[in-house]
Amino acid sequence: MRYVSTNYTDSGDRDLAESASVSVTAAVLGSLASDGGLYMPAEIPKLPSDFLQRLGNLSFVDLALELSQLFLGADISTGQLQQIVEASFPFEPALRQLSDDGVYVLELFHGPTLAFKDFGARFMAQLVGHFLPTESCTTVLVATSGDTGSAVANAFLGHKRVRVVVLYPKGQVSKLQECQITTLGQNITALEVEGSFDDCQRLVKAAFRDRELQHRVPLTSANSINLARLLAQSFYYFSAYGQLLRLTREPSSNTTLAVAVPSGNFGNLTAGVLAKKLGLPISFFVAATNSNDVVPQYLKTGVYEPRPSVATISNSMDVGDPSNFARLKFLYNSSRDLMAQDIVGLSVDEQETANTMRHCYSQWQYMLDPHGAVALSALRSARSKHHFDLGIFLETAHPAKFVEVVESTVGTPVTIPERLAICLAKPRLAIPLKANYEALKKQLLSLN
Ligand SMILES: *Cc1c(COP(=O)(O)O)cnc(C)c1O
Repeated sequence: MRYVSTNYTDSGDRDLAESASVSVTAAVLGSLASDGGLYMPAEIPKLPSDFLQRLGNLSFVDLALELSQLFLGADISTGQLQQIVEASFPFEPALRQLSDDGVYVLELFHGPTLAFKDFGARFMAQLVGHFLPTESCTTVLVATSGDTGSAVANAFLGHKRVRVVVLYPKGQVSKLQECQITTLGQNITALEVEGSFDDCQRLVKAAFRDRELQHRVPLTSANSINLARLLAQSFYYFSAYGQLLRLTREPSSNTTLAVAVPSGNFGNLTAGVLAKKLGLPISFFVAATNSNDVVPQYLKTGVYEPRPSVATISNSMDVGDPSNFARLKFLYNSSRDLMAQDIVGLSVDEQETANTMRHCYSQWQYMLDPHGAVALSALRSARSKHHFDLGIFLETAHPAKFVEVVESTVGTPVTIPERLAICLAKPRLAIPLKANYEALKKQLLSLN
């Protein structure tokens, strides 16, 4: 499988894109295409014809292996891929029925850092380990609004030839998120940026454009622009469907299935669309955002207008210019109408998010984190206009990651899982950084 830059669609010339395609090694290690675009598979591979029928009997590792083979099978042997997949996923997504009107929650927080980012980050760490030439080193540079930083740092912790530098916005991540990023030490450096997540992302992008810097400090991006994360995130949509087959006699061929995805940088949703294009029978997606609603606005008006992000209680989705929008456009040939056939965009405000957290707990004794609450809320409002038989929403983080907000909103104590509690006791090791590129460059050079 070859990989192409999303920027080629702008010229409309897919032949040109073919000739400019790169290998998966280049796509994973290089992160961003040289024209500034994001990598996408050059074609959508074909699923084995009996895959969906077998899905109900496959473990997560089994289905991840088969799907990985479609994308990576020509580059990595089956035995090696098996090892990569097993090392990446020692945990599984869990589908639970929430209400008897066909609403299910897909829990994606059973990994080591309690957020769905573990799926993408761990798969990426394994692929980087596999592709990085012996004797060479790289610095994984990552901007985070909270969960990416901890997942990526944890996934690469102790790696001999990879240093991880995490930029996070000062005062805008939860206390537990901050502990998870700043207490690891070893090959992990945490930079506390005096600015917003958008500032962090801007600084990281500037570093990737700086050829001179990269000559001295080779860089790899672990933000959701990295292709490896995208591929891994498509796996759990298949798992959800497999679990649905096990839990119910449905879905049959005419069951309508909606999937609500709480979205910030839109990597998660893009992976879902990829799963649908591979043939997974999802009828439509609900792109659920907080008040950072540039994509729902685009779906409504056809105009994409990035804005500075605003802070909300679902802080991992406070993104004003989602980087994966380029991939969504690519998948829909830059057509808003085609995109709108598959994706319903809905923005949920703070009040509604809080009400949903309370309602969900009082009605079903299920504690949501604020991101999952945005998704459930959007799924429920989508139902007033768009029919579906079964609806799944993604619960992207464990409520304990957002303990302050959850406890003050729901009024019930949250049990903190032990793997989270231990990092609270450790010393924090963050380096403060001004939100300007020269400061970052100096810092990166001094680490080498
Ligand atoms: C990152 C994150 C999101 C948003 O995912 P995107 O792929 O950036 O759209 C949602 N919820 C949680 C808990 C996250 O960490």
